[in-house]
Amino acid sequence: MDEGKDMKNRVSIVSAGENGIEAAVRQAIDLAGGLPDLITPRSKVLVKPNLCSPQPSGTGITTDCRVTEAVTKIVLELKPKSVIIGEGAGAGYDFSGSTSTEEAFRVSGTADVAARLGIELRNFNHDEWEEVSVKNPYIMDKVKIARTALESDVIISLPVLKTHLRTLITLSLKNMKGVLPGAEKRKTHALGLDKAIADLNSLVKPSYVVVDALAGMQGLWEYPQDKVEMGLILAGREPCAVDTVGTYLMGFNPAQIMHLQYFAARQRQQADLEHVMVVGEPLESHRRSFKSGYDVFRARYPGVNIIAGESACTGCYGELMGALTAMKEFGDGDALTELTVILGNASRDEVSVTEKTVILGKCARRLAHLGTFAKGCPPMGEDIIRTICRTAGSDADGVIASLDRERNRRWEETKHLLAR
Ligand code: SF4
Repeated sequence: MDEGKDMKNRVSIVSAGENGIEAAVRQAIDLAGGLPDLITPRSKVLVKPNLCSPQPSGTGITTDCRVTEAVTKIVLELKPKSVIIGEGAGAGYDFSGSTSTEEAFRVSGTADVAARLGIELRNFNHDEWEEVSVKNPYIMDKVKIARTALESDVIISLPVLKTHLRTLITLSLKNMKGVLPGAEKRKTHALGLDKAIADLNSLVKPSYVVVDALAGMQGLWEYPQDKVEMGLILAGREPCAVDTVGTYLMGFNPAQIMHLQYFAARQRQQADLEHVMVVGEPLESHRRSFKSGYDVFRARYPGVNIIAGESACTGCYGELMGALTAMKEFGDGDALTELTVILGNASRDEVSVTEKTVILGKCARRLAHLGTFAKGCPPMGEDIIRTICRTAGSDADGVIASLDRERNRRWEETKHLLAR
């Protein structure tokens, strides 16, 4: 590797153990080459944490506000023209009557950080947007992007070290989905998430990455049991290199991460450890074996045969998971044996139909004739419960009534978090 390449593909790993989080963030950024040559007095800087739903810092689900604060302070010391902390929570948020990105800012502590530092917070689900063309797209030739992100000279992506049901892991590249306003996020799923992430990042590629690996999240992000204490901060200038190291730290092979591989190919890069220089803490001694969301999901419902096409996304997976959990907890367990569920754009050739076959969502609509169909993008959990119960001849009303009671109980237990 020549010196320039060496610095570009450098990824630092720093332990936050002794000196605290801010010191660890500073050290990680310095070891990975620092920010001064990226940020000038003319720079408009976007700091982009991962706050896809309202979750407190320290859970491993959301970027810890102390990491966001440390990075923003370092940026402010370089006196750029402007700094904004921006995010747009996941698909389904910020619609009338739904939970909002502002709640995610507040619950995570990011709103307090912004107030302390005198920084503007921006909700990308409500930002102005522009439709931009992707040159030589894999799958998404045009995409709507929050104008703030397009107008930023420097984007600093602050992902959390996490698994993901659909993309196996989520790090700096997937974190950029937050710049897609509202329903545009769904489009990426409908088209095929991995290729769409690669296309998106060719328009809004992070200029720098700082990974909150204080606590990681494995499996299905069930807090607290899926939280993995790591105590680390990662940093680097090249998203492919940082995501490669983050993937490896979780115990997965970077070659398995399709959006990373697609994006690396687009950039004429190699997303593998041979092309990364790791500095700071030794990589191997911090490597863990995170449980993948997919494996946990499959193991939990052994009687359910899920046939998922490439476009299958967290929308359908999430609603299906909620429905199966409710049926297992409150319903007739037999309804879930020898059940076939088809989602995403599965091809007819990969589908073997059983007596109990349900087809979920718009992507799978052309296979609706193979069983009982639940429409929507995604179909709502209750509709999936009704569809499965209809197929299995069991009682959906009882399951839904019990689910409502459980939801109310959980809401009463947790609503104080939203009111802080
Ligand atoms: S139908 Fe389901 S899998 Fe397809 S885009 Fe909608 S939510 Fe995702």
